[in-house]
Amino acid sequence: MSDAAARDLSDGRGAPVAPSRDDAWRAEFPIFERTIHGRPLVYLDSAATTQKPRAVLEAIDRYYAHGCANVHRGLHTLSAEATEAFEAVRERVRSFVGAESASEIVFTSGTTAAINLVARSFGERFVRAGDEIVVTEMEHHSNLVPWQLLCDRTGARLRALPIDDAGELRVEALDAVLGQQTRLLAITHTSNALGTRPALGRIVAAARAHGVAVLVDAAQAMAHEQVDVRALDCDFLAFSGHKVFGPTGIGVLYGKRDRLAEMPPFLGGGEMIERVRIEGSTFKEPPHRFEAGTPDIAGVLGLGAAIEWLERADVVAIGRHDAAIADYATERLAALPAIRLVGTAASKGPIVSFTVAGVHPHDVAQWLDGAGVAVRAGHHCAQPAMERLGLPATVRASFACYNTRRDVDVLVEALQQTIEVLG
Ligand code: PMP
Repeated sequence: MSDAAARDLSDGRGAPVAPSRDDAWRAEFPIFERTIHGRPLVYLDSAATTQKPRAVLEAIDRYYAHGCANVHRGLHTLSAEATEAFEAVRERVRSFVGAESASEIVFTSGTTAAINLVARSFGERFVRAGDEIVVTEMEHHSNLVPWQLLCDRTGARLRALPIDDAGELRVEALDAVLGQQTRLLAITHTSNALGTRPALGRIVAAARAHGVAVLVDAAQAMAHEQVDVRALDCDFLAFSGHKVFGPTGIGVLYGKRDRLAEMPPFLGGGEMIERVRIEGSTFKEPPHRFEAGTPDIAGVLGLGAAIEWLERADVVAIGRHDAAIADYATERLAALPAIRLVGTAASKGPIVSFTVAGVHPHDVAQWLDGAGVAVRAGHHCAQPAMERLGLPATVRASFACYNTRRDVDVLVEALQQTIEVLG
């Protein structure tokens, strides 16, 4: 038995336990066969990117080795096969997010690109000087900067819903912030820096009551829970393939059919046109209107394999597992006197941010790396949230289906050493 496998068959205190479904999930990720500085890899940075199961690697390899052709153009067999497989993923994503129609699924290069698409296209059509865009203080820069740029272009104003000291969104501020001038509310499903899951049901309902369009940044949600765009009643939802066990460079924008239909193209080029003359062009209906140029075909197929894997593994069971590991980590870290937990909202994704008294987060992360533990340290692309909480940075441990309680124990042991040596 490998070291990694032996580790997984202990309960964290050395006692052997029967192999569980969690071990079966983990066994499908080849990265855990490697070591870091001679130690088994303890990967606690899934909020930055998730590891990839073999099924995803195989799907990408299969396309390049046996099915490589462009989509939507060729009449030959390879191209027809690639197009069919590509469009089948669109349908898989539709079903994964609960959308009404596959035409509501636009492939982008990631969450960032999806949000920029909306800021450019929706913004160009509907946002004018004096209008307002509402975000929250805990947004990732990807869900802030595109709106700032839109405001710079149009003379609109950006407003932010505040958070409190626990990292909880102050929902009671909604009524004061949403108004006649508000065109769009752009809000995270789960904060990547603090883990907070805002009460989206209530928030979207308030936005609806004001006739405000809603974009949900679901980058941190899709690997951990079932997200249904119709239940959320959002107009737009964005996520990245690489945070849901798929490849980098691919992502999804969901847009309600009526919304997408009234939005102009963002990028111009091949594949998005109906007819081109020198004097002007006409454009395809969504989603193709928003997919100019050759798409990341291998990325789409890899994403399809990732979603298939996730659905087969059972996203609800995975969500329960991730929450249990994060709860265990929270409990163990809270017991260490030098640790301050950052972001203690009532409802959280599997993300635990913290600081260590007297030790810079970067030094903590470097020390942990020596023990084979991969965590993120920094502002997590959420500088306004950090500023609000009066912190330059935190250490962030984030969990996914392949993590075990033993991973948390290794983290805590290594942290105890860090505190002894550097604290
Ligand atoms: N939003 C959130 C909440 C994120 O965590 C991230 C990635 N850290 C992004 C947006 C941006 O995703 P990407 O870099 O894949 O475009």
